[in-house]
Amino acid sequence: MALIVMKFGGTSVATVERIKNVARHIKREIDAGNQVAAVVSAMSGVTNQLVAYVREASLLHDAREYDAVVASGEQVTAGILAICLQAIGVQARSWQGWQVPILTDNAHGAARIKDIDGTRLRERLLGGEVAVVTGFQGIEPGRQRLATLGRGGSDTSAVALAIALKADLCDIYTDVDGIYTTDPRIVPKARRLSKVSYEEMLEMASLGSKVLQTRSVELAMVYKMRTRVLSSFTAPDAMKPTTPETWDEVGTIVCSEDEIVEQQVVSGIAFAKDEAKVTLLKIADKPGVAAAVFGPLAEANVNVDMIVQNLSSDGKHTDMTFTVQGTELPRALELLKGVQKEIGYFAVNSSADVVKVSVIGVGMRSHAGVAAMMFKALAAKGINILAITTSEIKISVLIDAAYSELAVRTLHSLYGLDKE
Ligand code: ASP
Ligand code: MG
Repeated sequence: MALIVMKFGGTSVATVERIKNVARHIKREIDAGNQVAAVVSAMSGVTNQLVAYVREASLLHDAREYDAVVASGEQVTAGILAICLQAIGVQARSWQGWQVPILTDNAHGAARIKDIDGTRLRERLLGGEVAVVTGFQGIEPGRQRLATLGRGGSDTSAVALAIALKADLCDIYTDVDGIYTTDPRIVPKARRLSKVSYEEMLEMASLGSKVLQTRSVELAMVYKMRTRVLSSFTAPDAMKPTTPETWDEVGTIVCSEDEIVEQQVVSGIAFAKDEAKVTLLKIADKPGVAAAVFGPLAEANVNVDMIVQNLSSDGKHTDMTFTVQGTELPRALELLKGVQKEIGYFAVNSSADVVKVSVIGVGMRSHAGVAAMMFKALAAKGINILAITTSEIKISVLIDAAYSELAVRTLHSLYGLDKE
């Protein structure tokens, strides 16, 4: 018998029909003697609609009232799911964040979970009742107000609840059947990974494979909570009940590195299209210049990712290239214009037609030559690299957007990730 948290995302609960399907997934586990706490998202599209209402009411709005509005989507799903469970003979009760309680800090709209008291839920689970908990929300104890965790936050609710309940497994049911070596829509030969380490998943999550909220992976990593990504669209009775013997048969388990026996050097290729490149031409090559460029951007909260600096041909100046999020480009350019005199650059070029392609794998820590191999393969295809960044388990290159698919496909084969 296992205690599992089962989280269902927006597409899995998009209609009452789908919520009934979710209820059958839960019933399968209860019938097998497992204890289940379910965490639900708002029905697909609902949170967007609620956010739109708030903006329509006033662009400048009170963050506590924003939370009061947007947290309501999850409340609807939790109630409907409890009703669907009861209708098929499963004891169930819905729980909102304040009822559990899930305590957060007071950063409304992007709150962090501080503590979850799992005592009452645990009693109910022991009695065979399913606890259906609203994702995405908690209560800020200071003012006793609802607080939401930021978009995609119900993944984090699920992992945090699993930790508080000391669950055996946190299952994230979604519309894909696991984590893939890359996006299967781009590379048909992409394979589902049966296991991936927390570190790798973190890189993938923050690089645009938006299956799990980054914060949820960080939390899972710190507390070593085994988290599985699987599809709710698989027929409920086509799946075996969850036991330690069968839980690696479907989906992808995000777990510690040492649980992964056949570790590849590279586990996946990620890419991010929402990048933009800025180049400052002919800046004086002297101390303090980088600070003059990046100081104002940092103050304005514009995140800079990749940075390259080259000496220009006259040897007295340097060109500086860096990337920002595509949506931040206009703001970044505006800020740079304001400090042109101080920095003393000659001109600025920018382009949003770039992508960042990254090769990720914990195996890189112990294998040399992974980067060299990557650069050689891209060169052989005539793909020019505009910028490079690396971490211990990741190499990212910035390239022209036109080459993104070719680059991803090339690297996917290069590191032996193609399925036969
Ligand atoms: N409903 C919230 C959102 O769309 C939270 C979630 O689904 O994870 O952001
Ligand atoms: Mg999500």
